[in-house]
Amino acid sequence: MEQHVSKQIMVSGLKPSGEIHLGNYLGAVKQWVELQDMHPSYFFVADLHAITEPQKPKDLHAQIIETAATYLALGIDPKKSVFFIQSHVPQHTELMWILNTITSMGDLERMVVYKEKISEGKEALAGLFAYPVLMAADIILYKAAHVPVGEDQRQHVELTRELARRFNTRFGNVFPLPKPLLPKVGARIMSLQDPSKKMSKSHGAATYIGLFDAPDVIRKKIKSAVTDSGSEIIYSPEKKPAVANLMTLYHLYSGLTFSEIEKEFAGKGYGDFKVALAELLISNLSPIQDERAAILADKNRLLTVLRDGGERASATAAKTLDEVYAKVGLKIEI
Ligand code: ATP
Ligand code: MG
Repeated sequence: MEQHVSKQIMVSGLKPSGEIHLGNYLGAVKQWVELQDMHPSYFFVADLHAITEPQKPKDLHAQIIETAATYLALGIDPKKSVFFIQSHVPQHTELMWILNTITSMGDLERMVVYKEKISEGKEALAGLFAYPVLMAADIILYKAAHVPVGEDQRQHVELTRELARRFNTRFGNVFPLPKPLLPKVGARIMSLQDPSKKMSKSHGAATYIGLFDAPDVIRKKIKSAVTDSGSEIIYSPEKKPAVANLMTLYHLYSGLTFSEIEKEFAGKGYGDFKVALAELLISNLSPIQDERAAILADKNRLLTVLRDGGERASATAAKTLDEVYAKVGLKIEI
């Protein structure tokens, strides 16, 4: 059984739409790095998802390269995983079109991420509305069974599963039904300024710790993170959601359990805890920062890795799309 599971394919991506933050790492990328040893894996820079919200072309261009370098700095190994830029594999958007024809407006209207984005004042673009369909295509194009993502993406993976099932029922069996893979702790890291909202790229720099924030920026952001009433370091997500979020970061980077952390900070206040947390984060992030700088210094090597990954992904994607076209009745040999 274990062996069978271990052969299953894994796909995931990250938008190059801003600084990658602790939520992205702890919710998603950390698992990718661990799981790539066990599963044939596809990881991509989700550039086509980034443009579902307006981007400045120059910034976007730089962020695509920086995000790719970040994957490598965090431990994605292009020898183990297929690592590429989404738009380099045109089958993602081609399959999306096919899936659009079996997706109802109601399916998409239920998506919480879309509703949240609109309530935050984001423009109601068709691309933003339909992005879960592109995400479904991203996943089933490689016949993935596992999708390691943070909690916010669970609903989209469930929609993906439903679309795969619908396609198979209507046209014949092509796709396995994928499942989300969530980390036990860290699937939903919260904003530093509002513990009722998830940490996100799009709520302003004070709300997240970017993986490439300078030490002083990290110190300042942690210092000004909101806390709860009282002064004790106690893990209680209901009573002390802001402190629980900071303790989650401490737990994930120190390896200490919550009760060990409580003991370590018994008799101390939020101020002492925040200083320790900031220093812990700085010492863990600085090697990654150095590593990314080294990768960016050899851009040709990075581009070669991306070209190779794009070719490998395209080879698989072309096969799936050919099967899909045949099933749907679109394939005509000329
Ligand atoms: P945006 O808010 O603009 O959508 P984002 O911060 O959610 O940006 P994405 O590129 O959409 O970043 O997400 C990449 C991955 O990171 C996804 O798997 C997502 O579930 C995960 N993720 C994002 N935010 C968090 C978070 N706060 N906690 C845990 N995982 C997260
Ligand atoms: Mg997101």
